[in-house]
Amino acid sequence: MDLATPLTYVKGIGPARSALLEAKGLSVVEDLLAYVPFRYEDRSNLKTIAQLAPGEMATVIADVRSASLAGFKRRSLGLFEARFSDASRAVLVGKWFHGGYLANVLAEGMKVALFGKVEFDSYAGQLAMLHPEFEILSGDDEDGEQALHTGRIVPIYEAVSKLTTRVLRILTHRIFESIEPLEDHLPAHIRQRLKLPDRWAATRHTHFPPPAADLRLFNQFRAPEQVRLIFDEFFWLECAIAMKRSKARLLPGIPFEINERVRERVKAMLPFKPTGAQKRVIQQIADDMKAPRPMHRLLQGDVGSGKTIVAAEAAVIAIENGYQVAVFAPTEILAAQHAYYFKQILSKLGYVVVLLTGSFTSREKVQLKKLLAEGLAQVVIGTHALLEKDVTFKKLGLAIIDEQHRFGVLQRLRLVEKGLTPDVLVMTATPIPRTLAMTLYGDLDISIIDELPPGRKPIITRHATSDDVERVYSFLKRQIEEGRQAYVVYPVIEESETQAMKAAEKMYEHLSREVFPQLSVGLLHGRLGGDQKETVMQRFKEGQIQILVSTTVIEVGVDVPNATVMLVEQAERYGLAQLHQLRGRVGRGAAQSYCVLVTEKMNDAARERIRTLVESTDGFYISEMDLKLRGPGEFFGTKQSGLPSLRVANILRDTEIFEVARREAVAFIEQPPTPGDLDRAAAYIRNHWQRRYSLVTVG
Ligand code: ADP
Ligand code: MG
Repeated sequence: MDLATPLTYVKGIGPARSALLEAKGLSVVEDLLAYVPFRYEDRSNLKTIAQLAPGEMATVIADVRSASLAGFKRRSLGLFEARFSDASRAVLVGKWFHGGYLANVLAEGMKVALFGKVEFDSYAGQLAMLHPEFEILSGDDEDGEQALHTGRIVPIYEAVSKLTTRVLRILTHRIFESIEPLEDHLPAHIRQRLKLPDRWAATRHTHFPPPAADLRLFNQFRAPEQVRLIFDEFFWLECAIAMKRSKARLLPGIPFEINERVRERVKAMLPFKPTGAQKRVIQQIADDMKAPRPMHRLLQGDVGSGKTIVAAEAAVIAIENGYQVAVFAPTEILAAQHAYYFKQILSKLGYVVVLLTGSFTSREKVQLKKLLAEGLAQVVIGTHALLEKDVTFKKLGLAIIDEQHRFGVLQRLRLVEKGLTPDVLVMTATPIPRTLAMTLYGDLDISIIDELPPGRKPIITRHATSDDVERVYSFLKRQIEEGRQAYVVYPVIEESETQAMKAAEKMYEHLSREVFPQLSVGLLHGRLGGDQKETVMQRFKEGQIQILVSTTVIEVGVDVPNATVMLVEQAERYGLAQLHQLRGRVGRGAAQSYCVLVTEKMNDAARERIRTLVESTDGFYISEMDLKLRGPGEFFGTKQSGLPSLRVANILRDTEIFEVARREAVAFIEQPPTPGDLDRAAAYIRNHWQRRYSLVTVG
């Protein structure tokens, strides 16, 4: 047996279990070894029930004396009670609310390990545990396997559907019984300098800590053995990224020339003085563009920080060098918005800017495609329609990709293939914490705009319940009387833009007829045709529409500086990042702006989100909170995001280990002790890690 052996070869894993494991991405021995315990329990020093004291966390091994659902009428709400006793003859009661399901799990006569906080139930006059963790010990173990579950430090695994921690413990143990010791591929000089334990010992001990192990460290994932495994995961990932990056550096790119004339043209285009941060990032971009290798840069800046003008400057450089520019936007509204903006500032210079989205007729598309193929249009702004096969460029030199997190890295690559090796500028308003950005966009250089345009006042955010709605409306009215404009947004319920559209339509009727009959109210939602959307946005921009009722189609990129109120209905339904984005639609001019979050029913998580927004307008803080509240997986939503699936390491918990691993990896790839080391590392990553790092490819 070795790391590549399919799990079906492990004794005890038949087709049924293997299917369950497979569904969790566990298919070979290596996968199960990377499926490490999430917690450890010290069962070496077991107590008897008679020795238990109220208030302590303890483990006991005991027999089930009785187990039944107590008293409540509705089964699903039932209180499940089990009585346990052991050789000490004392009795302990376990209680589980909503424990109906346990009727099929715990039964008289079973031997179990119970872990939990001991309490004294003064009403019944007995010791009790509320919702204790438990593990049924009687089962189909082999001789000697009983000893795995008690009398030692015991690993606790997250169940894989029906496979309990106990089953996983046995299976993992069986693997260790029959596998050859692992070779250690971490360069020896790094291992020695950082005093990391050997990989084989680290793997074994992470699953089955030795008797003298420091349980506290293990439960904090800071035992040297665990640190070694975490380090490995980061180290090889960062090596893979560094290799990819150094390869990209060797590709021939376009050495754009930036001479006096180009500088003049950029100056002529600018409608205002760039901020210091904008100047700094445009310099970084210009340096990249001059270099004879393709630019791969991420431009990160909070909503409203002024990324678009930076992109426009880069576009001028490309166009003045005789190249075309493609601007890729995630939604039609944003594409239309960008087209409007780019047309406004670039037509001054005589450039032809066109918009290409899915909602154009095929005749229109044919014409637009011709303009691009013949090089008659210098800039095209579009949605995924730009990725269609028959869209070709005469000379694509720069690809600008807005709101990267909205679509996959793969798509990004497809767009790039349309030119020879155009420069790529990715823009994102999701202020990703630095650590994550380095992992997620490890192959990109990062520029950050950390300064807002002058004269911006922080947006005032208030929370209101639906009972306050009259007050909110009169506030809105006052703002409009002062000449301002407002958004009223309805939640998109993920599955159904139709439902959101209906809600928005209803509210539109209500607001335009009953609440604000004397004002001009507009309606915008995803089901409107591209032309209609553009017309509505245009009318809002020009001030003809005073209140825009909308679904979250306006979430990204819409720019109307005179709008000062963002009213979000049912705000409890949105995620933090989404609310922050929505709020970013106001506060774009010099006037004081407001965001009102109206909620109906809130749970704790929603309350936490609303509180965060009321307290802070700092995008970095908000995204960090978001990440904490949701965890990295959900934070990025889809696998498409390109976030590598880490098994042992946790990007939030293991930041310091990440920093060290990244530094070591970069140094190793840039200056390997011998060239052979690099080849060996590449082969090792290919064979053992690439599968997990999904999109990272190593040649
Ligand atoms: P985002 O980073 O969200 O894409 P935008 O590029 O849409 O931000 O810019 C937000 C608003 O700020 C726009 O109205 C833009 O014209 C304005 N703006 C950007 N930079 C400056 C600046 N240096 N001075 C004044 N206004 C600016
Ligand atoms: Mg933008």
